[in-house]
Amino acid sequence: MSIRKLIVGNWKMNGRKADALALVGDLLKRIGATSPRCDLMVCPPAAHLDAVGGLTAGTMLALGGQDCHQAASGAHTGDIAASMLWDLGCRAVILGHSERRTNHGETDALVRAKAVIARTTGLLTIIAIGETLAQRDAGHALAVVAAQLRGSVPDGSDDGNTVIAYEPVWAIGTGRTATVEQVAEVHAAIHAEAKIVMGANKTAGLRVLYGGSVTPANAQSLLALDTVGGALVGGASLKPDQFWAIAEACP
Ligand code: PEP
Repeated sequence: MSIRKLIVGNWKMNGRKADALALVGDLLKRIGATSPRCDLMVCPPAAHLDAVGGLTAGTMLALGGQDCHQAASGAHTGDIAASMLWDLGCRAVILGHSERRTNHGETDALVRAKAVIARTTGLLTIIAIGETLAQRDAGHALAVVAAQLRGSVPDGSDDGNTVIAYEPVWAIGTGRTATVEQVAEVHAAIHAEAKIVMGANKTAGLRVLYGGSVTPANAQSLLALDTVGGALVGGASLKPDQFWAIAEACP
């Protein structure tokens, strides 16, 4: 079965409100002129979700958050609840990005708890996993991503409520992309593990994104793989020409 691919732009902590509005305005113009062959989503910083959501509402450009707290509400200074993302127009959230795992000490168990509340709120969960360079060099890449998948994906997950993003840590923001062979190997392992974790009858349409220095130059060969259900794009998603070219690289 060929799955409609999903291209997600993770803007991280970049840009002022005017930049966010200009970027989304540019993308919406392009979407208005040519329907993309893929699903498109942007994940702006939380501070810009309201402004960006005002422009994306009712369009083909979906809106997502970059993280949410595992609790419904409470004394969690600086955090954002899944329900708040929903109210701002988000229908998805990235969870377990390696920058959250590294900079905020997020464990698989925490990512799983966040996925539970996001799911309960109705958000699609984009759960990021990926090995470090040391783990790859030690020959543990497949075991690491399988363990992260088992630990981060909650019961009741399926291809309708969950997207997996394979992001080798050594490829994020480094300009060093995984080769097509490396991506093919890991994505096959993720699909196999997802069948065990979620159930074989619940993963036929599962989208496993690749993320890690995706650019227009490498997008076509990566997105040509059937096991690659799309891309999670960081740096290149801040440049509308590049983000659009990646979307256009979808077969
Ligand atoms: C990311 O932030 O998820 C990412 C993949 O970043 P970049 O494309 O810049 O490597």
